[in-house]
Amino acid sequence: MASSRLKRVEESATIKAASIANKLREEGVDVIGFTLGEPDFDTPRHICDAAADAMYRGKTHYTPSAGIPELRSAIAQKLCTENKLEAKASDILVTTGAKQAIFEIMMSVLDDGDEAILFDPAWVSYDPGIKFAGANTVWVPTDPEDGFKPYDLEGHITEKTKLIVVNSPGNPTGAVYDRKTLQNIADVAIDHDILVLSDEIYEKIIYDKEHLSIGSFEGMQDRTITVNGFSKAYAMTGWRLGYVCARPDIFKGMLKIQSHSVSNATSFVQYGGVAALEGSQKPVAEMVDEFRTRRDVLLEGLNSIDIKCQKPGGAFYAFADVSEYGNGDEVAEKLLKDAHVAVTPGSAFGKSGRNFIRMSYATSLERIKEGLERIEKVLV
Ligand code: PMP
Ligand code: GLU
Repeated sequence: MASSRLKRVEESATIKAASIANKLREEGVDVIGFTLGEPDFDTPRHICDAAADAMYRGKTHYTPSAGIPELRSAIAQKLCTENKLEAKASDILVTTGAKQAIFEIMMSVLDDGDEAILFDPAWVSYDPGIKFAGANTVWVPTDPEDGFKPYDLEGHITEKTKLIVVNSPGNPTGAVYDRKTLQNIADVAIDHDILVLSDEIYEKIIYDKEHLSIGSFEGMQDRTITVNGFSKAYAMTGWRLGYVCARPDIFKGMLKIQSHSVSNATSFVQYGGVAALEGSQKPVAEMVDEFRTRRDVLLEGLNSIDIKCQKPGGAFYAFADVSEYGNGDEVAEKLLKDAHVAVTPGSAFGKSGRNFIRMSYATSLERIKEGLERIEKVLV
């Protein structure tokens, strides 16, 4: 009975890996989880207070489909000052997480037979979004030795190319693209009249590097659809709150989908979003400091046992080459079975990931250290 659309896609590999680990935990096994990309911190108190207060003030009804005016204005302001975009409140669509935003973008701009470019490896939900929309994914190789930058993008463009997905800082590699790399992508997009989906959800989880928004590059304002959200920066994964900044025709298409599906992001959650943007940013800086410490410990531990891993400049993932010990699927299985350490196999993110595993270091330093000891014991 399943639709042909559904048959084109697999379930989310990151969520699947996490649920296998959870099931083992329920059975009493002490599993160390490096699977899900989810901050292990609590949402800052002032954000919770603002949402609770909104709820008690009766902000429990439908909101406009595009979001409450206060939040759309706060987002537009943030995009202008921090990201150098020319954003107005009317360009902003508030969504139930960045994932919903990405799905709505694919459904709004892609047609049957269109092509969308992903840089291999890429986060697990882009390819299914493209396929749900009836389009095809064209994978462009990246160089792990050179910051996972794409190469030969131009050579993969055809008449059918409609969209390029950019994700910096990136999942699963943690790579942060510099100005030159983004400029090269922008040049190709402009030359061939292609849209860019810029997923900037990890912009605040960044170490000693500068985040640049490709939508702020000359000639890119109208062809970039910028996606962001509150899940990672403010530890708000369960709240389901994200947003898009898009030019009017794309905005309208997405709004149509939203009005017929989720209607709007949860009313009081949106007030939490206003508090997140307008309140103290100290909790974000504290989280990033902690992530940096964890990254350094994890990297040192992996490299010391011949698991090669580039230093991630952002996000909270280490994408590690385990070819010394087998391919990524084999090593992930062995680690789970023999060490009770759960990781995501790199193959989940594209063909280039077959010799890799992804380790999310959104877990305590103590567990990271114990995980490393267990890995060393079963692999070395
Ligand atoms: N983009 C990337 C690259 C991600 O890793 C995630 C994580 N879930 C998302 C988008 C979606 O985030 P959310 O739906 O929680 O806002
Ligand atoms: N984005 C996170 C991850 O990659 C959360 C799970 C998901 O949405 O895929 O692990």
